[in-house]
Amino acid sequence: MYLNEMQAQVRDTAQAFADEVIRPAAEALDREERFPSEIYDEMAKVGLFGVGVPESLGGPGFDTLTYAVVMEELSRGYASIADQCGLVELISTLLVRHGTERQTGMLPEILAMKRKVAYCITEPEAGTDVSGIRTTAEKDGDGWVLNGGKIWIHNAPVADTGFVLARTDKAAGNRGMSIFIVDLHAQGVERGPKEHKMGQRASQVGGLSFSDVRLGADALLGEAGRGFHMMMSVLDKGRVGIAALATGIAQAGLEAAVEYAGVRKQFDKKIAEFQGVQWLLADMAKDIEAARLLVHSAAVKIDQGLDATKACSMAKCFAGDMAVARTSDAVQVFGGSGYIRGFEVERLYRDAKITQIYEGTNQIQRMIIARELMKKGARA
Ligand SMILES: Cc1cc2nc3c(=O)[nH]c(=O)nc-3n(C[C@H](O)[C@H](O)[C@H](O)COP(=O)(O)OP(=O)(O)OC[C@H]3O[C@@H](n4cnc5c(N)ncnc54)[C@H](O)[C@@H]3O)c2cc1C
Repeated sequence: MYLNEMQAQVRDTAQAFADEVIRPAAEALDREERFPSEIYDEMAKVGLFGVGVPESLGGPGFDTLTYAVVMEELSRGYASIADQCGLVELISTLLVRHGTERQTGMLPEILAMKRKVAYCITEPEAGTDVSGIRTTAEKDGDGWVLNGGKIWIHNAPVADTGFVLARTDKAAGNRGMSIFIVDLHAQGVERGPKEHKMGQRASQVGGLSFSDVRLGADALLGEAGRGFHMMMSVLDKGRVGIAALATGIAQAGLEAAVEYAGVRKQFDKKIAEFQGVQWLLADMAKDIEAARLLVHSAAVKIDQGLDATKACSMAKCFAGDMAVARTSDAVQVFGGSGYIRGFEVERLYRDAKITQIYEGTNQIQRMIIARELMKKGARA
């Protein structure tokens, strides 16, 4: 394996945590749609949040490849848990890149899960097309006043701090958006009801509304007007994270399918002896490995400072589509049992679907890949 000693050690830690703590709890968490604070507290103690945060700011300072490996292992345990890790990584990356000393001072609390965060972009009229956001922040003395609303925000029902994209200059298009760090317990902030989702049901997703929420000058992250650019700048890493998460879901499906095929008997034979089942298992294994390699290659490109946009979109698109197709195969290997609640593969199939939708839908990933091909040529 090409992981160095440190990367392999972190992978082993995440793998053991997933096997011992996460996977045994996943079925109940899915059923109860519960926010698993106790697991996050343990994960924080083990150091599995904010793996890319430099040591000087309270993190371990690992590279993107290590982050990808951690995401896959956590997701193999349960995708909702990996999703929380991905969210913390995204917010931490924004803070590390653009935060003032006072703003980065909140990182230790975030990594310890003492301060839960939310990344607030999507609105009813602005999903894929972020330029359609209507939330505004208007200058008020030294500070700002925030008005508007967000939907489908991960952690909205439980978060303490929102990183909110708002329009600060209505005439300036994508150059007129800014990111604000918002206390979600402040006056004027309301939370919508928790959404009930198809999969990743331990992730708490809901809406937020802002009504004349007063923000100090230090609520602005980075420069005013650079919010869209800042948001886009962390997308590559975000996509690698979701691609790794999708790979982990499919890997869990393969493990369950291999085990079941080795014990389930029909016609006096283990079903693993039938070629039809063998081909399902073989296709799952080869596509998972292909996704993993795309993920790792994209992560290494980021770590080497290379242009990683096409690689990250390819990894996200391939891994998301693969996870849906191959968890469906896992259900197939289980036959009717795979369709019944309580069997892991039934949950994995539901958990996989969102990986084709969030962090930029897979249609958008294909658009990006084609755009990069036309801009830089087919060999770039
Ligand atoms: C569980 C969950 C968690 C989420 N978490 C967050 C979060 O934490 N923070 C946040 O800000 N948002 C979050 N979102 C929102 C998510 O990012 C959006 O759902 C996603 O960006 C797609 O937007 P949309 O749902 O409005 O779909 P739309 O943009 O309405 O798209 C509908 C369909 O049209 C296609 N489409 C749109 N434009 C084009 C085009 N130009 N070419 C081709 N096809 C196109 C899309 O691919 C899709 O298939 C979450 C959503 C869910 C369901």
